[in-house]
Amino acid sequence: MSNLNEREARRAWFEATCVDLHERFGPLQDGEPASYIPELAAVDPDRFAIAAMTTDGEGIAVGDVDQPFTIQSISKLLLYGLALETHGRDTVLERVGVAPTGEPFNAIVLDDEANRAPNPMVNAGAIAITDLVVGADVEERIETVRSMYEGYLGRKPEIDRDVWASERDTGNRNRAIAYLMLSRGIIDDRVEETLDLYFGQCSVLVTTRDLAVIAATISNHGVHPITGEQVVPARVTRDMLTVALTCGMYDYAGEWAFSVGIPAKSGVGGGILGMLPGVGGVATFSPRLDEIGNSVRGLRVFEELSREFEMHMFDPDRPWRRGT
Ligand code: GLU
Repeated sequence: MSNLNEREARRAWFEATCVDLHERFGPLQDGEPASYIPELAAVDPDRFAIAAMTTDGEGIAVGDVDQPFTIQSISKLLLYGLALETHGRDTVLERVGVAPTGEPFNAIVLDDEANRAPNPMVNAGAIAITDLVVGADVEERIETVRSMYEGYLGRKPEIDRDVWASERDTGNRNRAIAYLMLSRGIIDDRVEETLDLYFGQCSVLVTTRDLAVIAATISNHGVHPITGEQVVPARVTRDMLTVALTCGMYDYAGEWAFSVGIPAKSGVGGGILGMLPGVGGVATFSPRLDEIGNSVRGLRVFEELSREFEMHMFDPDRPWRRGT
């Protein structure tokens, strides 16, 4: 069989497997949608989507792939990339480290020794990273964020204004984290504005198809698989992938790295974005979450795909290497 036929066959196998997993895990009712704000509690818990894109731009889409939902913590990964690109590694590392915490994502914990937030995937780190978003006021700064998304998506995404308002109304724990960082000189004194922006970037609306494109772009060392544009520098994607692998799945990051082995980021909106460097991206959406905050069906889909296709990044036999 020629290489081309083999690739076609593998794509068909992958697609058939995604269809099968969507059917198999569709009836799974475990977990609950996030309920800390009414807007998230009100989403249809039965929505379920799986999408993938290779670094060559070939896509697979199964289920509710065009259903918008709030990106929530997945945005932390993209803002980290933006901060690294805009300010450079040294400035970013001064404020935010790269060590997993073993604490919940919203813990009021800093790296006291280095006087910085522990890592960019927990709220403290993400707020410190949000502080670095450039612009004169919150509207200008949210445009900076939307423009960053435009590179990946070809459009500026909408923000769910109701979610944004609710996040703002209920976000006192994040306020506590931010003011603690202000008192330590880790962030600037425009704290309320930065918090507002942080809540806004949690409320960006994306679809599962969008997440697959974003994941494929990062996996392709920052080059958009369809437009060919360098959306984010390759050296920055290396750092994004590293923190995604070590800190991307809340307190489950260690187990995830061990069993699934794909750099990934999850959000309480129900999305998971997984990246296989040099190969492609996979995204899932299903709002029911486990107690850690990860999508129940999403976890199952990634576990099965990783096992079936030997996608673990350290698997010596994985058949997904570029050019095979
Ligand atoms: N909006 C949430 C918060 O800041 C973050 C959600 C998430 O972890 O996905 O508390």
